[in-house]
Amino acid sequence: MSAVVALVEQAGGVPDRVSLEMLSLAGRLGSELGIPVHVVLFGEGADAAVAGLAGLGLETAHIVEHPRLDAYAPVAWAAGLGEIATSVGAVAVVAPGTERGTEVLAHLAARTSLPMAANVVAVTPGERWQVTRQRWAGSLIEEAWLDGEPRLVTVAVHALQPAVVAAGGPAPAMVRVTPTLTDADLRVRVTGRVETKSDKVSLTEARVVVGGGRGIGSAEGFAMLDELADLLGGAVGVSRVVTSAGWKPHAMQIGQTGLRIAPDLYIACGISGAIQHIVGCKGAKKILAINKDPHAPMLARSDYAVVGDLHEVVPAVIEELRRT
Ligand code: FAD
Repeated sequence: MSAVVALVEQAGGVPDRVSLEMLSLAGRLGSELGIPVHVVLFGEGADAAVAGLAGLGLETAHIVEHPRLDAYAPVAWAAGLGEIATSVGAVAVVAPGTERGTEVLAHLAARTSLPMAANVVAVTPGERWQVTRQRWAGSLIEEAWLDGEPRLVTVAVHALQPAVVAAGGPAPAMVRVTPTLTDADLRVRVTGRVETKSDKVSLTEARVVVGGGRGIGSAEGFAMLDELADLLGGAVGVSRVVTSAGWKPHAMQIGQTGLRIAPDLYIACGISGAIQHIVGCKGAKKILAINKDPHAPMLARSDYAVVGDLHEVVPAVIEELRRT
């Protein structure tokens, strides 16, 4: 028995886009090795999410259930994932390079004393397995050997095209698994959740993102970015300076220590373009920078730029959009 095991994250019964990106790598690996790909899902909605994995050639979906596992618990997830990996003879365990995917795989690595490669974009199996992975927040590509079995790999987010689901195609067979968990496995777990109610599109799903940095000047200054985002059906994101100043919450931060976005258009207003910010927005198809400094690094990263005071440029864009 031999397989590739992939951890699929889902929300509300729908597999996350980053999990589909990860599955494109896992699928390729399975084909190259001539072995099946099994997926592992946790939490409410896991059953429904399996339908969203149709036509991907996945063999089995393991739905992890446990009376004490009613919310995210990284060590317990690692225990469950490890148990399944052992039972199917996994040669590789792959997860999306999200906060959760990385945390769970790191726990699995610690439990098994195996090495783990994070932010991988390609895996070449062989006598020794070679991995290509992003380092330094994506500004450096590293070729490395990954030993041990199973190989533990997280896939860099928004670096690969998602696997294409064929609705109506065959879905993987569902198997329910109840892992053996100890009190220690459940010590760290989500015990509550505060939802921010919003009828707006989420930052990671938005096709247009309007970003604001220090150049906005104040919390109040974001009203015009909200207006611009509303007009474009998009969402507002911010740089770390903005969250550090308390103008906006950390949940809106784009970058290395924030969210990674992949919209069709990112409009960066008053953002200098530090590498830690670029990491979060380089998945955008097009970038428009609005900055008064013609030498700001953001401009070199952009497809379009307006050099000028954003307090004049943004209202002018809003006015033009309202007029048309
Ligand atoms: P600044 O660098 O101060 O740039 C402000 C820009 O606004 C300038 O280019 C200026 O010309 C322009 N400007 C000012 N006024 C106007 C105006 N009126 N009109 C037009 N343009 C104007 N940063 C992130 O964003 N996300 C992260 O996740 C992140 N993680 C980090 C992790 C680590 C470990 C470290 C060390 C740093 C991290 N940072 C992150 C911080 C990052 O290095 C930068 O400090 C930050 O991105 C700068 O934010 P900014 O562009 O808003 O501000």
